[in-house]
Amino acid sequence: MKPIGPIPPAFAGQHGALAIAGRTADEWVAAHGSPVFVYDFGVVRAQVERFRAAMPAGVRLHYAVKANPYAPLVRATAPLVDGLDVASAGEMAAVLDSKPGSAISFAGPGKRDDELEAAICAGVTLNVESEGEARRAIAIGERAGVAPRLAVRVNPDLELRGSGMKMGGRASPFGVDAERVPALVRAIIASGAEWRGFHIFAGSQALDTDALIETQAATVALAARLAVESGHAPPMINLGGGFGIPHFAGDRAVEVARIGAALTRTLATRDAMLADATFAIELGRWLVGEAGVYLTRVVDRKESRGETFLVVDGGLHHQLAASGNFGTVVRRNYPVAIAGRMGEAADDAVSVVGCLCTPLDRLADRVVLPRADVGDVVAIFIAGAYGLTASPSAFLGHPMPAQVLAGAS
Ligand SMILES: *Cc1c(COP(=O)(O)O)cnc(C)c1O
Repeated sequence: MKPIGPIPPAFAGQHGALAIAGRTADEWVAAHGSPVFVYDFGVVRAQVERFRAAMPAGVRLHYAVKANPYAPLVRATAPLVDGLDVASAGEMAAVLDSKPGSAISFAGPGKRDDELEAAICAGVTLNVESEGEARRAIAIGERAGVAPRLAVRVNPDLELRGSGMKMGGRASPFGVDAERVPALVRAIIASGAEWRGFHIFAGSQALDTDALIETQAATVALAARLAVESGHAPPMINLGGGFGIPHFAGDRAVEVARIGAALTRTLATRDAMLADATFAIELGRWLVGEAGVYLTRVVDRKESRGETFLVVDGGLHHQLAASGNFGTVVRRNYPVAIAGRMGEAADDAVSVVGCLCTPLDRLADRVVLPRADVGDVVAIFIAGAYGLTASPSAFLGHPMPAQVLAGAS
């Protein structure tokens, strides 16, 4: 049998029927059908409050929309954060009624001319990923008669140790190599574009608090070096984010209070070139991941050669990450529970498999859960980030699940 990841604190310790934002899982399924994603906005609000309490005053919090672009969630989150980071013109168009263009930044390789133009006309900051993209943005701004707001995304010569997804220290499609940044900054300023500063993102899904502290300090030092070498003070420094959340057995939560205390010290002693800079941290999964629960009903309970399978009406077409096929090398179990039997003795050895006709569709592999039968609801946690929109929902032609934002008002 294999271990199960830790149930997030908001739901761990419950007994009996799983409650999400004041209603049971069965009530959510009765109201919206199965499968359904339920997002408990109280969890998002609590994460924002933890961030604010931990971080030095004045450090801005941005939400990385790609983690969960569900419109009601973005609309509810926008007033609690200082900025929204988007990764496509589609995401940008969807959030422009939640924040002014000046509070939105747009990163990502391969921005098309029409995307650059839409961003420039909306006053959105473009985190340019290459010299060529900067040239195209400047030319488009000239044609449109609008000075583009340009920041340079830096491919740092450092990397976030222990991060699930390494972004720095090597050849990369993301950002401009640090050593080439000063020349690009001077070219941007000479063009008459509005210079917005640096975006330095060194990695994602890191759980090692010391590594996050070291990386932030190194990022501030790199920004200072680039500012000195380019001869221009950056108005804004986006320090990236990378705060992870526990998914698997043995994972421990990031200690934000310690990160905030260290960042306070780092910023207190920063280079004079950064004296007037505004700092931002952009977070996706840490803000919303633990808020989401994917609920899916058992359609069949079957035995095969000594193993028991709970076959559910959901699957990897909605929640790819739980199947281990989204950015993990070794398949491990996400936190999972029988929604009606929280905290009950677990004595039933099962695998939870989805309804897709592929052996990849395994939502929990050889776990021990309380006994479940046809009609019972399985809860898969950590479904608030990189869930539905990061899954191949068209695969096999099943219906889209409902999504519900709960507890937002
Ligand atoms: C995806 C992304 C994020 C969000 O990452 P999380 O691990 O969800 O916090 C932040 N910044 C950039 C540039 C990204 O591409």
